[in-house]
Amino acid sequence: MELEKLLYKYFGYQTFKTGQKEVIVSLLEGNHTIAMLPTGTGKSLCYQLPGYIFDGQVLIISPLLSLMQDQVEQLMKFGEKRVIALNSFLDSEKRGYVLGNLNKYKYIFVSPEMLSLPFILKRLQALTISLFVVDEAHCISQWGYDFRPDYSKLGEFRKKLGNPLTLALTATATKKVREDIIQSLDLQEYTKIESTIDRPNIAFYVEEVPNYHDKQSRLIQLVLQLQKPGIIYFSSKKVAEQMAALLVEKGIYRVMAYHGGLEQEQRILIQQQFIHGQLDVICATSAFGMGVNKEDIRFIIHYHMPMQIESYLQEIGRAGRDGEASIAVLLYSPGDEQLPVQLAEGELPSELQIDWLFSQFPQQEIPNDHFLDGNQHLREYGGFSEVQWRIILDLINNSQAVSNLEEIKHSLKKFVNERLTVKKDSIYYMKKWIKSKSCRRDVILDYFEEGSVNMKTSHCCDVCGVMLDPYNAKESGQSKPANEGWQDYLANILLNSELSE
Ligand code: ADP
Repeated sequence: MELEKLLYKYFGYQTFKTGQKEVIVSLLEGNHTIAMLPTGTGKSLCYQLPGYIFDGQVLIISPLLSLMQDQVEQLMKFGEKRVIALNSFLDSEKRGYVLGNLNKYKYIFVSPEMLSLPFILKRLQALTISLFVVDEAHCISQWGYDFRPDYSKLGEFRKKLGNPLTLALTATATKKVREDIIQSLDLQEYTKIESTIDRPNIAFYVEEVPNYHDKQSRLIQLVLQLQKPGIIYFSSKKVAEQMAALLVEKGIYRVMAYHGGLEQEQRILIQQQFIHGQLDVICATSAFGMGVNKEDIRFIIHYHMPMQIESYLQEIGRAGRDGEASIAVLLYSPGDEQLPVQLAEGELPSELQIDWLFSQFPQQEIPNDHFLDGNQHLREYGGFSEVQWRIILDLINNSQAVSNLEEIKHSLKKFVNERLTVKKDSIYYMKKWIKSKSCRRDVILDYFEEGSVNMKTSHCCDVCGVMLDPYNAKESGQSKPANEGWQDYLANILLNSELSE
């Protein structure tokens, strides 16, 4: 059957989005494929549709529980019931049933840590895996901004599963990262499908303000004047909420804060209100964006300095999906880099924490992951975040062959320092881009080794002469209380008051 017909039959879409068909055709021809497609282009469909053509199962490795859950729900929404996620959310009773009946599922999502459990791997080995998908494949590379040590073993697992046909998916990866992905998965021959990371209809506009106070007032001005809807990204939940409240105070009523600290229901409600045009502005953290399909977002403002160009591009890429002119404004004030540096440091365990943890191990024995899993109180006492704890577990698991506790401690510290250097380099690159006197688009394309812009449009970047006026609202620019009716207005007030509690 023609691919378009299958697309319509299973997903109800008439046409493929850029890159999708090429990826699917490459897989159907039996080629391992590495696909770099921007966020929102429908990467998931690249494995969802072949799943209906291949006889065997599709195994998808996904780094984040939330992402995995999203993808499971996406498939279920299309009426697919043969889908399961093997992760720590599965309670032991259900896990027993699922593992005993794995061959009944078509799409199996698994976290890398689950894959490393021998009994899970054994069950998977008994299946016919017709497609092995590595989602967010940049996590494989230690040069990637989201390196996950447990992703580095995927090549080994792939081999143990009989080298199945493989699809590596990522939104943004430099050449070095892409090479790491291929090497780590041991893909001898492969097809590469890359779409440009350039979004010509989104103009870059970096504005330097003298200090934090001026930044606040400038943000209010911008939100009042720019054509909405828009998203303002913050690195702090608290500041996102404070600014949302301040904007409401300034007469921009249809604004809400969105971050990972909100209840699931609240998050869904805010997303839906934004998608359906009942909200003009979202003050968001990076938690906002996944699954938000809104075509007409006209501006993205970054209030805090992003930690790396890759995530920055993903965030601004949510603007202008309808192809209309949109603007990405980044507000910078001197010293702004201290917050991302602090956040980068906080993602990793500190040397003090590592020393403390190792002093807790009984009689200097090498702990195994069972010991650490069973001693969660150590995590609490040591003040480790979930991510920090995961890093420690991964590294200790990877060091089982080493007999000396001191050696493990040393390699853990070395790892942390190396990661910190990679992260700080990304932050300094971001700052260099902010301070750059060259075309901002060219600098980004150069970073991803895509050359430079062939044809400059009139909305390239501030260095190339872009002004804000064409991006201003056509009418008054002041958002009024939701004009869909008093119910919406009331819902907003209620939500806002709940948020400020
Ligand atoms: P990504 O992982 O690239 O960010 P997703 O796979 O989550 O993107 O897809 C983004 C959205 O696009 C989803 O709602 C998906 O259903 C939708 N989508 C995927 N393919 C198509 C298509 N061919 N036509 C229209 N919408 C599509």
